Amino acid sequence: MVIVMERGASEAQVEAVIGVLVAVGYDVHRSTGQSHTVLGAVGQPREAVDPGTLELLPGVREVIKISEPYKLVGRTFRKDDTVVSIGGVNVGGPEVVVMAGPCSVESHERVGRIAGLVAASGARVIRGGAFKPRTSPYSFQGHGEDALRWMREAGDKHGLAVISEVMDPRQIEMMSRYVDCLQVGARNMQNFDLLKELGRTRMPILLKRGMSSTIEEWLLSAEYILAGGNGQVVMCERGIRTFENATRNTLDLSAIPVIKKRSHLPIVVDPSHGTGRRDKVIPMARAAVAAGADGLLIEVHDEPEKALSDGAQSLLPEMFDRLMAELRVIAPAIGRTLPVARPAARTA
Ligand code: PEP
Ligand code: MN
Repeated sequence: MVIVMERGASEAQVEAVIGVLVAVGYDVHRSTGQSHTVLGAVGQPREAVDPGTLELLPGVREVIKISEPYKLVGRTFRKDDTVVSIGGVNVGGPEVVVMAGPCSVESHERVGRIAGLVAASGARVIRGGAFKPRTSPYSFQGHGEDALRWMREAGDKHGLAVISEVMDPRQIEMMSRYVDCLQVGARNMQNFDLLKELGRTRMPILLKRGMSSTIEEWLLSAEYILAGGNGQVVMCERGIRTFENATRNTLDLSAIPVIKKRSHLPIVVDPSHGTGRRDKVIPMARAAVAAGADGLLIEVHDEPEKALSDGAQSLLPEMFDRLMAELRVIAPAIGRTLPVARPAARTA
């Protein structure tokens, strides 16, 4: 249930409404906007509260019964777009934020080199897996904490924030010492214990859509994190499984306007996992920005034929550079910006 207070409702009136809700067992999340205070009542109350009764309390403008099963992630609860700061890089503001790097962090040297190249092209965040969710237990599983240390060093050297995937609640504390954002992979979107633990942190979380999840299920997973008290969530569309097999997944770009309408959370698109083939990544990246994505997550590798994972979908650095130049033309057409290239980072 969402309670919208009157413009200019007094603090005592707001507190009185909160008191009534808490008394019956709701958790109350308060959002103080410029003109209105909005209260989100979540959880299972011990006794039912009649919205009509609440509406009669002084200072209450409207009580909205939410038909959607999620509350805190919904637009009804928060009208303004949420901006998530990933190590000082704002996702959800005017700038289209590009996160780029290898699928897996393979070596100290390579992640440093790729970081310099993507920074030179205008990326703001270095991506790379230290713990890899591989279909086969015999495939490369990631270099763990060493990989995080190498990525942090590369990020600091080239002025990039750092994102990496967390697979297990036991990794959160250690990973948080190295990264600016924790990625929840498609395979873990409904790992509810992991989501609950992430809700207890104050780390930015990039939540990938599960490969066979509906948008409602995906938003409910985000709700787990917000319900724990962590509002710093970025949604990431990475393609879903359909009957189509010409591409690795079917990249659902319509998720962008759907999420924008239903939720205040920012959404980025991963055209690498979304298509699985490097020649398809560029057109889908362009389309994602044109459709209003707040950012992109793109795999880039300097020797993709030698990559330990996802070489076929990794852009060569020069392809990435060209894509960024194209995005600098597309973004302004829809009122967005993209950072300028920083050629000096290439050699720094
Ligand atoms: C990844 O980003 O490398 C990854 C494993 O992605 P996903 O969870 O979308 O498959
Ligand atoms: Mn990958």
